Amino acid sequence: MDRNASASDAIVVGGGPAGLIAAIALAREGVQTTLLAPKPPHTDHRTTALLGSSVDILKGLGLWTLIERAAAPLRKLRLADGTRRLIRTPEVLFDAAEIGLDAFGYNIANETLLTVLRANLDHPRLLVIEQAAKSIGITEDLARVTLADGISLETRLIVAADGRNSLCRQAAGIGTSKRPLPQHAIALNLSHTRPHNDISTEFHTESGPFTLVPLQGMRSSLVWVCRAEDAERLRTASPDELSREIEEKSHFLVGEVQVDGPRGIFPLGVEIADRFADKRVALAGESGHVIPPIGAQGLNLGIRDAAEIARLGGEALRQGLDPGSQSVIAAYDLNRRADIRSRAAAVELLGRSLLTEFLPVHLARGLGLEIASRIPFLRRSLMRGGLGHGPTDASRTKSA
Ligand SMILES: Cc1cc2nc3c(=O)[nH]c(=O)nc-3n(C[C@H](O)[C@H](O)[C@H](O)COP(=O)(O)OP(=O)(O)OC[C@H]3O[C@@H](n4cnc5c(N)ncnc54)[C@H](O)[C@@H]3O)c2cc1C
Repeated sequence: MDRNASASDAIVVGGGPAGLIAAIALAREGVQTTLLAPKPPHTDHRTTALLGSSVDILKGLGLWTLIERAAAPLRKLRLADGTRRLIRTPEVLFDAAEIGLDAFGYNIANETLLTVLRANLDHPRLLVIEQAAKSIGITEDLARVTLADGISLETRLIVAADGRNSLCRQAAGIGTSKRPLPQHAIALNLSHTRPHNDISTEFHTESGPFTLVPLQGMRSSLVWVCRAEDAERLRTASPDELSREIEEKSHFLVGEVQVDGPRGIFPLGVEIADRFADKRVALAGESGHVIPPIGAQGLNLGIRDAAEIARLGGEALRQGLDPGSQSVIAAYDLNRRADIRSRAAAVELLGRSLLTEFLPVHLARGLGLEIASRIPFLRRSLMRGGLGHGPTDASRTKSA
C-alpha cells in the first residue's frame, strides 16, 4: 500500500462487535468501506443477550443462521426479588409466546459472535486492515486517519467503533457526561446440575441485579452486580467458594453450580456522548454510550447504531451525496438520540432504585411491576419495550 493509500467512502475504526457489524452493513449498502481492526489485547469472556432488534438486523445481513446455531434461546424472563427488604416485589414471569415470539433473545459468547462476524468480512467493498488508528484529522471536506506505520487513509465518513476511550470521538470534539455508579459487575460462566429451561432469571438484590442467562446445554452465564467493596473478594475467591456462594444467592434454582473459565470485573457507570455524531464522525457502540449490564441493552443499542449509520450512508451515496455530509451527520445524531438516552436513563434508574434504602422507592418499584405484570396491555408493552424495536428495522437493512 502506498503511503497515501486508498480513499474509501467510510472508515470504521474498531473491530469489536459494533465495528464489525457496521463494516459489514456499510459494505452491503454499497459503501466502499475500510475497517481498522487491530487484534484485541485480550479475549472477551462475556456473553451477550441479543434481543429482537439485533436479531432482525443480523437476519437482514444474512448472518443470523450462523449466530443462532451457537446461541441459547431466552424463551422466558423471570424477575425475582432477592432482597431481604420489608417491601418485596412478587416474582414475575414473562413468556415470549405471549407476544407471539419464540424467544425474547438469544445468548451467545462474545468470542463466538466475534468469530462469526470476522468470518463474514469478505466483501468486494470491504478492505480490512489489522492496525489501529494513531491520529485523526478532520477538515470540512474529508477526514484523514493515520495508522501506526505512517500510512494515511482518506475518507468522507468515520464510524467510531473504537470503544469507550474513543480516539475518534475526541478528534470530533465530542464530550461525554459520565456518572459512575457505586457498583461493579462480575461476569462469568458456569455449569449446573438442573436445566435452566430456557429461562433467564434476574434476582434483584440490595446491590443490584444478579442475572443467570442460559447458554447452550446445562450452562449459563452470570452477571452479578455487586458493591465495589465486594468485587475484590468475589474476584479472588476460589472457584469452589464462589460456586457455593452462587448456589445460595440463586436459591439452587439451577441446582449445584461450578464456575468455569475466568471472571471479568467491570466498574459500572453511565457515560453518554453529548452528541452521537459531529464533523464526519458517527459514534457506534460504546464510543457513544456505556451503560451498566442491566437488561442487556448495551450492545443491542450498538447494533442499532451500526445499522442506522449504514442505512444513512448507503442512502446518501445512492442519491449521489456525500455520506459524511452535515445532513447525514445531523440525521444520525437525531435518529439515535431518543433510543440511546431513554434506555440509558431507564437502566440507570433501575440500578439506583435497587441501591436506595428509601422505602417509598421499593414500594413504587414493587407496585409498578406488580400492576404492569397483571394488566395484559401493559404486560405486553413492557415485554416489547425491552426488545428495542426502534426506528431502525430489519426491512431497511438490506442484504448484499
Ligand atoms: C458484564 C457485561 C455484560 C454485558 N452483557 C450484555 C448483554 O447481554 N447484551 C448487550 O447488548 N450488551 C451487554 N453488555 C455490553 C456490551 O458488552 C458492550 O456494549 C459491547 O461489548 C461494546 O462493543 P463495542 O464494539 O462498542 O466496543 P468494544 O468491544 O470495546 O470494541 C472496541 C474495539 O475498538 C478497538 N480500538 C480501540 N481503539 C482503537 C483504535 N485507535 N484504532 C482501531 N481500533 C481501536 C478495540 O481494540 C476494540 O476491539 C455487557 C457489558 C458488560 C460489562
